[in-house]
Amino acid sequence: MPNDIHRGSCLCGEVVFEVEGPLRDVIACHCTQCRKTSGHYWAATSAAHERFRLVRDAGLVWYRSSPTAQRGHCGHCGATLFWQPEGEARISFSPGALEGVTGVQTAEHIFTEDGGDYYPESTAPRTAPGARLRSSCLCGACAFNLPAPAGPITACHCTQCRKLSGHFSASFDVPETALVWESRGALAEFTTPGGGTRGFCRDCGSSLWFRAADGAFSVEAGGIDGPTGGHLAAHIFTADGGDYYSLDDGLPQFAGAEP
Ligand SMILES: [Zn+2]
Ligand SMILES: [Zn+2]
Ligand SMILES: [Zn+2]
Repeated sequence: MPNDIHRGSCLCGEVVFEVEGPLRDVIACHCTQCRKTSGHYWAATSAAHERFRLVRDAGLVWYRSSPTAQRGHCGHCGATLFWQPEGEARISFSPGALEGVTGVQTAEHIFTEDGGDYYPESTAPRTAPGARLRSSCLCGACAFNLPAPAGPITACHCTQCRKLSGHFSASFDVPETALVWESRGALAEFTTPGGGTRGFCRDCGSSLWFRAADGAFSVEAGGIDGPTGGHLAAHIFTADGGDYYSLDDGLPQFAGAEP
């Protein structure tokens, strides 16, 4: 199917796009910017502009993340969606936003030297991160601190986490009352279909935290500045995972919630 049309959207549907395939293989980026916006690390496929079309852009917010590129997210639900380098006739977008079969696979991982200390393959020294962790968004408008170290970190491959992060999420539980806010002028909240609440930066789209309907609270691992002191412990909802990656890190995998 060389001319198949791929449809993508954010979780709330305020941003919808279509791309005429074939898509470029996925590149997973572990730079600090991609980690903060996605909440773990970002993965992107791409296509030439003439094969890309915005169907709905009511929620689309662009943030100039560097002199040479902008990042696009949904200002309503906070989904991480686009990366647009200046002057390039291609746009990169989240494979997690796509519906159905993507037809691509993960080809490489880049900026791995900036990856999290909590990755299973991390060779970072397990230094104690100090008494407090700090989370901050990419633009700096949102920041809070919380007790160190991070507890067990769970990667979630559910459809909601894939839509919001653009790939899959990684977060750890912490009591919400343990957070000390330094700045939250641009904090936005989105109520998910399941009754949870997601916190993100309205200006830069960075993923910050999630509060489940029952009040259980978790913080996105990719938003932590410096070492977390935590370890990725398991993958959950793998039955809903993307077709463009495979999990081979040896960690426990659960098709649904952790039993
Ligand atoms: Zn949205
Ligand atoms: Zn921000
Ligand atoms: Zn999830």
